[in-house]
Amino acid sequence: MVSAEPAFRPQINFKRSIVSRIEQILFKAWMCILACLCLGGCAGLQYQVADPAASVNRTSFYIAAHPDDIELFMARNAWDEIEKNGAKVVFIVFSAGDDGNGDSPNGNCESFYHARELAHIDAVKFWAGLSNSKDVRVVEEKVPVQAHELSRQSIGEKVVFYNLRLPDGNVFGAGYESTKFQSIASLRSNKIDRIVSVDGALELNYGELIALVRGILVREAHGTAGAVQVNIQDEDGRLNPFDHADHIATAKTVVDALSEAPYACVKIARYAGYSNAFRPANLTTRERLLHIRTWATLNSTLVDCGQASTWEPRHNALLEKQYFRVEARDSVCNF
Ligand SMILES: [Zn+2]
Repeated sequence: MVSAEPAFRPQINFKRSIVSRIEQILFKAWMCILACLCLGGCAGLQYQVADPAASVNRTSFYIAAHPDDIELFMARNAWDEIEKNGAKVVFIVFSAGDDGNGDSPNGNCESFYHARELAHIDAVKFWAGLSNSKDVRVVEEKVPVQAHELSRQSIGEKVVFYNLRLPDGNVFGAGYESTKFQSIASLRSNKIDRIVSVDGALELNYGELIALVRGILVREAHGTAGAVQVNIQDEDGRLNPFDHADHIATAKTVVDALSEAPYACVKIARYAGYSNAFRPANLTTRERLLHIRTWATLNSTLVDCGQASTWEPRHNALLEKQYFRVEARDSVCNF
């Protein structure tokens, strides 16, 4: 007992110093976040809550990195467009979100990435039901886009899915050894020449990825009313700091694709991501319930597929809110 005491005291001091250090880091992080948010405001960048143009007859693309990003960060606007039944809504998910598992067998639904795709589609099926649609069956077909054969899934005439299944780039974009350190961020910054989807169906250089995005845009917007909006995550770190590298790289790729004629007509809405954890809930009571139910539906499918639930505090802190801004552009395109 006597000999234990001297060893015990340093442990207490060590714990205190660790707690103190953590407090300092958290305090600095808070200050940094507040500074970044202030900088965004000072730079004239401000977020809004609802999209007044949602009922317009347009083609609206929701383009995100992972199969749960639209449900977390863009949900309110996406379900609102589907529920009002005015816009054609096209969901494009760049990454498999495989967490380094590639296409290896995992759980009850073939693979981890396949479980995430099914969960994403089930959440959108819930949205499709909001418009009193009595048929939310998903139809799958192969379509040619830029010399590639893509899998296109749809619910009725106005809800469409494309999943490119590019390798998960990990939080900082370095990728995973198991998928040869491939990431969308590394492709965009020329650290790698080509990227291969986890199912092997796509092999692209950066120019070909840009062309593929443009090809899907033209294919789905062609013959519609002409107004086109693309919804992406906000790549501007002044307003949306500390986001996932895949989120930022996906958004920047889409912005690159829309940087010149004839694609510069497309209106762009940018949504805050992980930084929403520090923002207050801003949805109405009904919208809050719908957002929570959306997340529950997605997680129900994950669990059915034998995967861990993401119904936990870190993700749930992103519910009941949506923050986005719209860049002023024509939005009328002649694809
Ligand atoms: Zn994500």
